[in-house]
Amino acid sequence: MKWKGRRQSDNVIDSRGKRTVGGAGAGMLLSFVGRRFGIKGILVMAAVIGVLWITGLVDPSTFLGGGVQTQSGPVETTPQEQERLDFVRVVLADTEDVWNGIFSGYSEDYPEPQLEVYRGQVATACGTGQAQMGPFYCPSDQKLYIDLSFYDELEQSFNAPGDFAQAYVIAHEVGHHVQTLLGAAQKVHARRGQPDYNEWSVRLELQADYYAGVWAHHNQRYLDPGDIQEAVRAANAIGDDAIQGRTRGKVLPHTFTHGTSEQRMRWFNRGLKSGGLEASDTFAMPYGDL
Ligand SMILES: [Zn+2]
Repeated sequence: MKWKGRRQSDNVIDSRGKRTVGGAGAGMLLSFVGRRFGIKGILVMAAVIGVLWITGLVDPSTFLGGGVQTQSGPVETTPQEQERLDFVRVVLADTEDVWNGIFSGYSEDYPEPQLEVYRGQVATACGTGQAQMGPFYCPSDQKLYIDLSFYDELEQSFNAPGDFAQAYVIAHEVGHHVQTLLGAAQKVHARRGQPDYNEWSVRLELQADYYAGVWAHHNQRYLDPGDIQEAVRAANAIGDDAIQGRTRGKVLPHTFTHGTSEQRMRWFNRGLKSGGLEASDTFAMPYGDL
């Protein structure tokens, strides 16, 4: 993928130098509320957090176990990591251009997401993020999060090397942002706890792959030979069946939440062919036909 010298996004936050300090959140909040409003205040606060938790609006770890970022220091980095950061900035800028264009075609604004590059652990509006989770999107603060070490894992453990594979991963998370703007994400999250929630989650994930394909469609002039195969290989490598096959030695279909490798490749390719939103409805067809 040709990316050097291209526009870099201003929406990337580099918090690699921050260290999360865990456990302070609950104590500080409790003592503040206690001093200010007494025991009644504490009970009201607990009830509010409880309701938000039950309705799925808030992850209690945000208040309880969740770390609060208070310390930041100099970033120790390598030339390779700095290059990856520049790369991430270019890819995010690229998704901004594509989605601004598509949304304006519908006379809509595209509110651009921010992307936070962190190390190890990060406090988010969805709870504490961990590097082991891989890159993720938090709908509550409309931010993408990535620990750049994931790219080593993609290369080594998932055997999906190449810059376009790395770009695809970001484009997929941006796909979740688009779903949040269009309301699909909220519809699926409302089903949390229901027996068919997993199916809805798969539909959501495959649509994010479709959106990643849409982004690739608009990027074709920057592609090197083999780039699409790199992205498809990444989609293939990080499908649930592949990941579970690696980690547990066998595949457990009822715990799938992303779709199989074959499904992920297919929906990415559909988006790649289409370049628009028209063929993106993973919610309309019977689950078995996805
Ligand atoms: Zn996803």
